Amino acid sequence: MTIIDRKAPVLVTGATGYVAGWLVKRLLDEGHTVHAAVRDPGNEGKLRHLNALASEAPGSIRYFAADLLAPGSYAEAMAGCELVFHTASPFIAGVDDPVKELVEPARQGTRNVLEQADATPSVKRVVVTSSCAAIYGDNADLEETPEGVFTEEVWNTSSSVEHQAYSYSKTVAERAAWEIHDRQDRWDLVTVNPSLVLGPGLRPDSTSESFRIMKQFGDGTLKTGVPRCGFGVVDVRDLGEAHYRAGFTPEASGRYIVSGHDTDLADLAVPLRREFGDRFPFPRRSLPKALVWLVGPLLNKTLTRQFVSRNIGLPWRADNGKGKRELGLEYRPLEDTVVDFFRQMVENGVFDERPR
Ligand code: NAP
Repeated sequence: MTIIDRKAPVLVTGATGYVAGWLVKRLLDEGHTVHAAVRDPGNEGKLRHLNALASEAPGSIRYFAADLLAPGSYAEAMAGCELVFHTASPFIAGVDDPVKELVEPARQGTRNVLEQADATPSVKRVVVTSSCAAIYGDNADLEETPEGVFTEEVWNTSSSVEHQAYSYSKTVAERAAWEIHDRQDRWDLVTVNPSLVLGPGLRPDSTSESFRIMKQFGDGTLKTGVPRCGFGVVDVRDLGEAHYRAGFTPEASGRYIVSGHDTDLADLAVPLRREFGDRFPFPRRSLPKALVWLVGPLLNKTLTRQFVSRNIGLPWRADNGKGKRELGLEYRPLEDTVVDFFRQMVENGVFDERPR
């Protein structure tokens, strides 16, 4: 049982990120002092939305320069904090050098932040933003699970640097977090394991992969159809709340799958067509697995034959019950997430809307 003093500052790493935004907002709205660790505190464009939130909320924000790969760089930001949210980690697909661009920042960064927690006497709890990617690598892994559903007991053992490098980066990072935690008993570790995060961001120009995925529904990339491939989705606003509760619920412990809905790409297009009609080239049909196997690798370097055989046409199921029971998590309807996210992109001029 860990009780956090609400007057102590709270550290958020990667505070400029898409996921971190709603957490920072929640903290500021509750009157907390947020220590925001960012790579470049001089980059005003990336901080504008956070400053706007702070100006209207009872809480306050202070920025600290820190880089995942620079040992000791979180020391100043963490000093005096009882609670640390570690969200920073690259979420990008299609990288050229997966070790350098994904695995090392994720694993070394987690070590860097958690070893700093070890060296900072005020810290009582660290909440790490892990991922469902640390639970499963491919949809085919569902068949290996004891109960035919992904739970917090399951670990991703199928990803590697060569296959599903992002999932591998999140798996080794979370493993490193538990290893460091298990060596001591002064602070506790809670991990939040979200599925794919969608929903409106607080910063319109995000680099998160979530934005690229949603954008494809409106820019014509998916107009010929989508492969059927199950995955989970959680709203970014619900995920902000999940982080907050993981931090401040005294009894919170272990891993929490945070995923509102089991769905797939074809399902996501349904509410978009209902809301926006034929203004955009939404996908209207599902592509057969054999076709994706044949042409996928030519169109997209992440659609390898191994990926297609182990994911396309296969369902995804996760048990989100632990978070509901222990943290009281609730999830908004999937159509609200998708429509609100897409509408934000339309309003921000992301799509070149020409008469169709
Ligand atoms: P994002 O918007 O790209 O945020 C990533 C954050 O990490 C940014 O603040 C970025 O800082 C920071 N970062 C990256 N490399 C860094 C480095 N070397 N040193 C310091 N900071 C660094 O992506 P996101 O979607 O919000 O992801 C946030 C977390 O959620 C990640 O841990 C991700 O794995 C996890 N997650 C995301 C999803 C999803 O669907 N979006 C699903 C499950 C888990 P800069 O602003 O300086 O680049």
